[in-house]
Amino acid sequence: MDLKKFVDLHLHTLASDGTFTATEVVQRAKALGLSAIAITDHDSVEALEEARTCGAKEDIEIISGIELSAYSDKSEIHILGYFLDDKNKRFLKKLEELRTARKERIHRIVEKLRKLKIDITAEEVFEQAQDAAAGRPHVAQVLVKKKVVPNIKEAFKKFLGDGKPACADKEKLTPREAITLLKDVGGVPVLAHPAFLYQDELIPKLVVEGLMGIEAYHSEQNARLSEKYVALAKEQNLLITGGSDCHGHGKDRILIGTVKLPYEFLELVRKAHLQLS
Ligand code: AMP
Ligand code: ZN
Ligand code: FE
Ligand code: FE
Repeated sequence: MDLKKFVDLHLHTLASDGTFTATEVVQRAKALGLSAIAITDHDSVEALEEARTCGAKEDIEIISGIELSAYSDKSEIHILGYFLDDKNKRFLKKLEELRTARKERIHRIVEKLRKLKIDITAEEVFEQAQDAAAGRPHVAQVLVKKKVVPNIKEAFKKFLGDGKPACADKEKLTPREAITLLKDVGGVPVLAHPAFLYQDELIPKLVVEGLMGIEAYHSEQNARLSEKYVALAKEQNLLITGGSDCHGHGKDRILIGTVKLPYEFLELVRKAHLQLS
């Protein structure tokens, strides 16, 4: 019997822009033979309770997590947080503010689309997002439903992607603010998908600001890139994490389980968390 244990540390649910409930994510993790998963929704920890309930039933360890967006100059940086206290009142209030800012941004995105003569309302996007942290993927889903574009990918390519005509900025947290927000609640801050940042020179600066790890393994990059970021992590004395960044049907394919990180990596993150508090 294979006793090796694996984890997936980057998963989205319906609490942000994933299309699976927390229960579905946990059940899929179980079916794939994972031992632990981290739920890392954008600006939300709302799925964690349901994930824990299902995790207890299915014998899957649930790691509390989140994915925050920060800006450095023009680039958007995603910072994951692990083992954070998702009951902390101040933290929850800040997340609520970020989600309110996301809603305000939806109005700006919709306005831009309407100027491009696309018939869409903010209400339609909120209907699509329900209680989730509303984002561009929800706008994309509405555009697909209305047959403005054939698929989500095309919606980003034509309208919503960074620098495209209907893209709008989110609330601007600095990387230092995001990192501090996480560490204040025991969260271990990790740079998400560094390969998509295209600015490796930023990493040492983020380390000075308190970054503790990088997501060297990600489903949408090749093995050579993973090796590069593993080497970079070692050089900078950073933790190494990895995850699929599964959004359910929100991406071309279902990604959960396409990254299987050995459990030992998670133990090191846990150790770092314990040293924080
Ligand atoms: P937002 O949080 O509103 O800025 O939206 C960012 C999210 O959109 C990311 O987390 C991705 O899940 C998704 N996304 C970004 N680019 C694309 C793309 N080209 N195709 C599909 N989804 C994308
Ligand atoms: Zn997302
Ligand atoms: Fe991300
Ligand atoms: Fe993500």
